[in-house]
Amino acid sequence: MAVTDYHVHTARCGHAGGATRDYVLAALERGLREVAFTDHVPLYFLPGDDPDPGLAMTRAELPGYVEEVLALREEFAGRVDVLLGIEADYAEGHEEALRDLLAPYDWDVVLGSVHFVAGGWIDAPGAAARHETEGSAFLWTEYYRLLAKAASSGLFDVLTHFDLPKKFGNLRPAEAAPAEEAAVRAAAASGVAVEVSSAGLRKAVAEEYPSPPLLARLVAAGVPLVFSSDSHAPAEVGWGRDRVVAAARAAGATSHLTFRRRRATPRPLV
Ligand code: ZN
Ligand code: FE
Ligand code: FE
Ligand code: ZN
Repeated sequence: MAVTDYHVHTARCGHAGGATRDYVLAALERGLREVAFTDHVPLYFLPGDDPDPGLAMTRAELPGYVEEVLALREEFAGRVDVLLGIEADYAEGHEEALRDLLAPYDWDVVLGSVHFVAGGWIDAPGAAARHETEGSAFLWTEYYRLLAKAASSGLFDVLTHFDLPKKFGNLRPAEAAPAEEAAVRAAAASGVAVEVSSAGLRKAVAEEYPSPPLLARLVAAGVPLVFSSDSHAPAEVGWGRDRVVAAARAAGATSHLTFRRRRATPRPLV
């Protein structure tokens, strides 16, 4: 049983609820040994100080976020390990800006996400319509092109929701298979891990990220795994962890990773 959850948000992002401390209490209640806070990084690649208050914390909120997580680490020491992480968007051409933004803090784990594709969000309400207007093959191909660059950038420890554009049920079309394969190869070559996330089970697509066949290909390529819920409410902490562990095992994995100060340690699945 994996007793870790490496993807948990806080109310600072504007679309999560509950007190940060309640996420830790939920982790304790569910018998988790480690919970990594990984709130959305300020939208450093868009103009203005707070380009979308409903999507991410502001730059000004980042120090307070770090402080709150470190205080919870102290408070819960010996009961559950609270890790300092962040979910950082990959934005092509803005790699140095992200490096600078992350540099002042001692992160345990940095998640890399591609949410912004071809000038818009791929996972926001309304994104399903983009598959009609812009073409699903184009969006998926462009998404995977960016994800491969994120993998190779060296900025991230873990890639999140590997097949995110399926969120609303727009499954990856055959035309985008080569781009997907290139992203798998880029992940394997870079040594980055990939999360197995229960969040997809709560969305319209109703399956884990990544899908079972894709997860099997990632495992076969030697990509290490991390377990996550992508919680946006205390009730979601550790949610579906039996499912994600079972998915990892079915995909042929025998281990998952934990992180401290961005250094990975493999742990057995049991
Ligand atoms: Zn979010
Ligand atoms: Fe995300
Ligand atoms: Fe997230
Ligand atoms: Zn996420």
